Amino acid sequence: MAPRPLIAGNWKMHMTLVEGAKLVDALGMALAEATPKPACDIAVCPPFTLLAPLSEACQKYGFGLGGQDCHAEAKGAFTGDVAAGMLADIGCTHVIVGHSERRSLHEESNADVKAKAAAALAARLTAILCVGETESERDSGKAEEIVVAQLLASLPDGATAANMVVAYEPVWAIGTGRTPTVAQVAAMHKAIRAALDGKVGDPAGMRILYGGSVKPGNAKELLSVENVDGALVGGASLVSADFWAICSTC
Ligand code: PEP
Repeated sequence: MAPRPLIAGNWKMHMTLVEGAKLVDALGMALAEATPKPACDIAVCPPFTLLAPLSEACQKYGFGLGGQDCHAEAKGAFTGDVAAGMLADIGCTHVIVGHSERRSLHEESNADVKAKAAAALAARLTAILCVGETESERDSGKAEEIVVAQLLASLPDGATAANMVVAYEPVWAIGTGRTPTVAQVAAMHKAIRAALDGKVGDPAGMRILYGGSVKPGNAKELLSVENVDGALVGGASLVSADFWAICSTC
């Protein structure tokens, strides 16, 4: 049986406290009024400043709450960083690691991402481990090979379907309005699923999200692709009606 989908919103560096609280409440109301309820889990990943204040509302509505990054160490002299255990302490359930913006703008290597994912697991958070190829890597015809290598080098020990989610996010599709074809998504997700075999606990049950310009207009098509078990949504997660419309396709 296919895993229950997860729709996770990555708010990136957006939203004030008032705006974030309004968005979570709007989603909570939409969920309360929906019949039938969408057949998916829902999570939001706000900036660090909003995690603690939104924790109670997310718990009330049954939404997961995720950080957008964490440090690999449990504590120490790391000015500006936040440990995975600190996220768990204020009610987070998830944390994104290895987002392409962290990999490119903060020069995070696969080894860095693996260490962060391991820290997330140790803190009993679900790691949303992001992988994806650049446009030139896609054009080289080796996208699947490259993404699988990135995934295997970023995978922490002890990953299972219960504590990790993979997010395939082609770098060239993030925030651009462009998406891969259904055939490209299907081939990549199939390759990722095959690569997980023997490397994680319950590989068939591990959720593999698609991310990159998911919008209400393309969500149904993308989410119906085999081995696509949800979506990591950036821009469209900032507008409650759009994010809800994406969740409602499940
Ligand atoms: C993201 O940054 O994780 C993302 C998928 O962004 P967008 O949906 O805006 O392309």
